Amino acid sequence: MALIVQKYGGTSVGDVDRIKNVARRVTLARAAGHDVIVVVSAMAGETDRLIGLAQKMAERPDERELDVILATGEQVSIGLLSLAIQGLGYRARSFTGSQVRIQTDDVHTKARIVSIDADRVRQALAEGEIAIVAGFQGVSAEDEITTLGRGGSDLTAVAMAAALAADVCEIYTDVDGVYTADPNIVPEARKLDRISYDEMLELASLGAKVLQTRSVEYAKNYLVPVHVRSSFNDNPGTMVVKEDTTMEKVVVSGIAYNKQEAKITITRVADRPSIAATLFGRVAEANIVVDMIVQNISQDGSTDISFTVPKTDYARTQEIVRVILKEIGADKVIGDDKIAKVSIVGVGMRTHSGVAAKMFETLGREKINILMISTSEIKVSCVIEAKYTELAVRVLHEAFGLAREAVVEDTV
Ligand code: ASP
Ligand code: MG
Repeated sequence: MALIVQKYGGTSVGDVDRIKNVARRVTLARAAGHDVIVVVSAMAGETDRLIGLAQKMAERPDERELDVILATGEQVSIGLLSLAIQGLGYRARSFTGSQVRIQTDDVHTKARIVSIDADRVRQALAEGEIAIVAGFQGVSAEDEITTLGRGGSDLTAVAMAAALAADVCEIYTDVDGVYTADPNIVPEARKLDRISYDEMLELASLGAKVLQTRSVEYAKNYLVPVHVRSSFNDNPGTMVVKEDTTMEKVVVSGIAYNKQEAKITITRVADRPSIAATLFGRVAEANIVVDMIVQNISQDGSTDISFTVPKTDYARTQEIVRVILKEIGADKVIGDDKIAKVSIVGVGMRTHSGVAAKMFETLGREKINILMISTSEIKVSCVIEAKYTELAVRVLHEAFGLAREAVVEDTV
């Protein structure tokens, strides 16, 4: 008998019939003798609908109130799923984030989990119940309702699995697992049987939407085995696990893209110490996360600085920079929100050379201009014009031979 956490995303609980389908799957696991904790998202589109409602009341809604509104989405799902499971003759009980108690900090709309006191859930399991936990929400030390950022139900599931030392955290979604690239763009994309935490972390943060980035980080820190699979069939999905030596033999495991960032360039910034600290300090104070940064030194003692931020923070970042232009001795701000970041990821890059060169060459052959580059041990990212995204992903997938079963190469 195992302890299993199952998480069902918005599309999997998108309507009454789908919730009944989830209830059937959950009860199958229970009937097999397992203890089951189910984490659910809001019904598909519901979180966006709630945000839309809030924005009708205020252009920039107060974030405490926004969390009060957003948390209702998941609360409806847990109640409905609980009823559906009871309807099948099993015992189930729903828990909100605060009932569990999933304790977070007080940063509304992107709170971090501080601790989980899962006693009530343990108690429910001990009494033979299936525990249904609302994803995406928690409670601050001051008893305020908080939410964990978009896609946060994945994090709830992984954190519950860690807190209860579950045998596996199954993330049920509308795709069969983690693919070498978005199958909507590359029809030959292949489902991966296994992927390491580090690769999954890069892919998630670089734009692959299948798992929320912070949930992967959490899984990695607590070594939670995560199984990403479809709620619409019984196919085995992708296991996200600790890296082993065979994984290093594959140079590139996957390709991700992200169209959700914008580029900001500040021209003729004074080339003096602490300028970057001032600039990025102001941006950080506004809770805006900067991704890539490129600085060009010019001949005449000034520099151009370009960086990328989430599109949702694009306007606000420009406002912030405009205010401090004089202070940092800069000329002007130029924005570009028609960009995309395309990335290749693989732990094998640590031991193989020439990977970045091959990526640049492949893009060059298609006359795709590279605007920015960044690398880490296991990824190379290029910012390009957004209109070339699909083409870039396709040619890279082809160039690195991802459609075929992974070729095992000798280490160079
Ligand atoms: N309902 C939330 C969202 O749409 C959380 C989740 O689904 O994971 O972002
Ligand atoms: Mg999701």
